[in-house]
Amino acid sequence: MSCDEFKPLITGYLDDELPPEERALLEDHLADCEACARELAQLTKLKEELSMMEFKEPTDAELARYWRSVYNRLERGLGWVLFSVGAIIVLCYGGFKLIEEMIKDPGIAVLLKVGVVALVFGTVVLFVSLLRERLAVRKVDKYSKEVER
Ligand SMILES: [Zn+2]
Repeated sequence: MSCDEFKPLITGYLDDELPPEERALLEDHLADCEACARELAQLTKLKEELSMMEFKEPTDAELARYWRSVYNRLERGLGWVLFSVGAIIVLCYGGFKLIEEMIKDPGIAVLLKVGVVALVFGTVVLFVSLLRERLAVRKVDKYSKEVER
């Protein structure tokens, strides 16, 4: 058998698809023929390089972890929004009720009334400001694609 006849066998050998007798025949030839041995070495190297480039599929565990982290983010985001909206409503409503009651009550000193009004407005402003800051941070987070693990 000539080298040209062995060439098609080499690719089969690489893919482990040769019947045992052809395999033994080729191995005998490779032991004696430097050219074919070199070709096999080159093809083996090429195959390894190709397999390294192949897309590595995520395992089930990795996928589960990914979706869990997406869910956690959604859950926390929703929780945060609901909490913020609720807190702002309660603060505003409670604050203005308190102010209303106090202003109607002539027994409370004007200075104390001013103090409470400032306190209530201050709290609302601080809370809204914190919320805005928090939302801005969340927006920036979206661009740093790294998913929490
Ligand atoms: Zn040969």
